[in-house]
Amino acid sequence: MNLDKLQTYLQNNNLDAAYISNPITIAYFTGYEMEPHERIFALLAFKDADPFVFAPALNVEEAKASDWSGDVFGYLDHEDPWAIIADLASQRSAELNRWAIEKEHLSVSRLQALQTALPNASFAHDLSPFIADLRMIKTPAEIKHLQAAGAECDFAFKVAFETLKQGMTERAIASQIDYQLQVQHGTMQTSFETIVQAGKNAANPHLGPTMTQIKPNELVLFDLGFMKEGYASDSSRTVAFGQPSAKEREIYEVNREAQQAAVDAAKPGMTASELDAVARDIITKAGYGEYFIHRLGHGIGKVVHEAPAIMQGNDLVLQPGMCFSIEPGIYIPGVAGVRIEDCGVVTENGFEVFTHTSKDLKIIPAD
Ligand code: MN
Repeated sequence: MNLDKLQTYLQNNNLDAAYISNPITIAYFTGYEMEPHERIFALLAFKDADPFVFAPALNVEEAKASDWSGDVFGYLDHEDPWAIIADLASQRSAELNRWAIEKEHLSVSRLQALQTALPNASFAHDLSPFIADLRMIKTPAEIKHLQAAGAECDFAFKVAFETLKQGMTERAIASQIDYQLQVQHGTMQTSFETIVQAGKNAANPHLGPTMTQIKPNELVLFDLGFMKEGYASDSSRTVAFGQPSAKEREIYEVNREAQQAAVDAAKPGMTASELDAVARDIITKAGYGEYFIHRLGHGIGKVVHEAPAIMQGNDLVLQPGMCFSIEPGIYIPGVAGVRIEDCGVVTENGFEVFTHTSKDLKIIPAD
């Protein structure tokens, strides 16, 4: 179990305890998912004692009813959570000198509050890299959730292609996609704001849906993701609404070839940098290298962007169980943008995608 790995890590690194503050990390270790807003929510782990969850009093009962079977302690709004945490930790373990924290998450003011409550302790050790490495290799159960989340994207693309009509705004289409996912599939949460981009808007990779109306004879880019069982999906398709120009057909085909080549090439033993190059070389040779303005992909799991980054200069060797996106894009400012994206998992001998919507250029009649 992953919490055993955390305890072993504490022992091997001569650490007494860990203060885990990122709700995503807490969910990863405990199965209890919660958004605490401004209140204090933490998992405390020890080298020689059982871990416990510390939560606002109003969440204690739901935490106890969750998959988490360990202790849960709460605090009321008017109480000092830091004094209670220090007291609970001291009851758990006699030696509390060296602590590990998530430096990527814990705020400076909360670190200072911890330090004040535990004046003799050191909070110098950063646990964030260990947690990122641990989360990078997915278990079979996690891969099942990622596949299920991917299937939501395939459904959403069907909705998107059926919804696309002349005169509709990008925002209306995005809202319709989200609405149909909620009412037909019970999907309560997207993993990021649904992206619908028409024409030259697609040349800005992360531009949110605008009030721009869909016109005939332009490319429309969809980038969609939904949460399922606490895991994210993320997939992009670009379609032609009406007749694409020769240039649009060309950049689509170059990008499609680059994306498929990378999906086909991904396997254990190669580096993230080498995989990025598979797609980038095809786009560069076709003359569009300067328009591919981001890394090939990002890891995916409990959040939509996590390790590993599939990019130039990352010598990380790919291993079975790593899950990430493969999403080359060509963005020509003022003209058009194309991106095709599938997330998937590195298997023993290749790469298995989570989304299966066709990547042949789809032409949706504009009349
Ligand atoms: Mn992505």
